[in-house]
Amino acid sequence: MYGFQSTEEQQALVDTARRFTREKIIPVAARLDEHEEFPLELFKEAHALGLANGEVPAEYGGVGLGCLDHCLILEEIAYGCAGIKTTLAGNNLGAMPVMLAGNDEQKAKYLGMLGAEPCFAAYACSEPDAGSDVAGISTRYERHGDEFVLNGQKRWITNANHARWFTVLATRDRSLRHKGIAMFVVDADTPGVKIGRRENKLGMRASHTCDILFEDARIPRSALLGAEGEGFKIAMRTFDRSRPWIAAGCAGLIRRALDESRAYALERKTFGEPIARHQAVQFMIAEMAIRYEATRLLLLKAAWLVDQGTLDATVSACAKAFGADAAMASTTDAIQIFGGYGYTKEYPVEKLFRDAKLMQIYEGTSQIQRVVIARSILGR
Ligand SMILES: Cc1cc2nc3c(=O)[nH]c(=O)nc-3n(C[C@H](O)[C@H](O)[C@H](O)COP(=O)(O)OP(=O)(O)OC[C@H]3O[C@@H](n4cnc5c(N)ncnc54)[C@H](O)[C@@H]3O)c2cc1C
Repeated sequence: MYGFQSTEEQQALVDTARRFTREKIIPVAARLDEHEEFPLELFKEAHALGLANGEVPAEYGGVGLGCLDHCLILEEIAYGCAGIKTTLAGNNLGAMPVMLAGNDEQKAKYLGMLGAEPCFAAYACSEPDAGSDVAGISTRYERHGDEFVLNGQKRWITNANHARWFTVLATRDRSLRHKGIAMFVVDADTPGVKIGRRENKLGMRASHTCDILFEDARIPRSALLGAEGEGFKIAMRTFDRSRPWIAAGCAGLIRRALDESRAYALERKTFGEPIARHQAVQFMIAEMAIRYEATRLLLLKAAWLVDQGTLDATVSACAKAFGADAAMASTTDAIQIFGGYGYTKEYPVEKLFRDAKLMQIYEGTSQIQRVVIARSILGR
């Protein structure tokens, strides 16, 4: 059966997230962005309201939502600030490998931490020389008796400087490519684990992004998620589930661009009439509406498939790729509609534009999504 009607519970979830966004996020978003201020207090409030750790199962103190309901929250939060959305989603991203491959003890310990109090997890896959090419990572693990020893460097890790633990991808031999990779869960206070430089970013500046360094960091055997050699698969399954979240963030950005553009176009006058009367402006607004509806349909389908247990990696990639390009185009048009004012910090659309760019880059660039889609259609 097909349906587009949300349940009462879903509507209540959206109402809570929308109110939180309107009352708490929108008033401070520009300041947090300007000063790269981490939204710790907002995160605590989101945690208390059940808006953080969306997909962490309720038995471990998480909210226990499915992917679709989680996406409904993320769209609302991104409407207010995509950087804060990334901070919230970053926790779920860090936790997903534990949810997918952790044993009962690992789940109880690490997911339980996220449920018990507002704290952070991070997902450490990318490196200075390996972003798109995940199988090319060089962070090494060696087995020493009952321990593993990690050496290497991770880059671009969301929430790293606030996280209590990380999920970390490492290889026992880089030449083995994906076959040599394992996934670990690592306490942030492990000796030999250090947080490196923090990036000074174009957008999503309320979200913090740092290097993590591993220098002879010794972790117990119980830190291994799944089996050795399974890490690459766990990482890919994580991305398949997280890509609808990015598309949800894109839907939030497009809807905000549309609302801001509509209000401005009705108010701003040129040649004696509101710019909303000029067809060129109308068409940019119409395109935004088309992109919003299409992004939303795609992300809901991708998330719904995840919830049915019939996840389709191609649909997740389509949602992420389309949503990211649609957000970039819509926020570019929003600046155009605002004219010179759109190019200044006096109005929120320049932030939407800066934030949208990251949607085309993280969790698999727009090119990599197309590689995934083309491979599934054409085969390798
Ligand atoms: C703000 C931010 C937050 C992030 N958060 C995290 C995080 O929490 N955890 C994490 O692990 N990573 C994170 N990342 C890393 C992110 O996923 C990578 O930056 C991304 O995957 C791209 O990798 P790269 O930067 O190494 O670019 P590269 O892989 O070097 O790509 C450079 C360019 O080449 C293109 N390209 C590469 N290979 C191909 C190909 N086969 N076909 C066509 N085009 C190709 C790319 O599309 C891109 O345009 C984050 C990044 C940023 C910027």
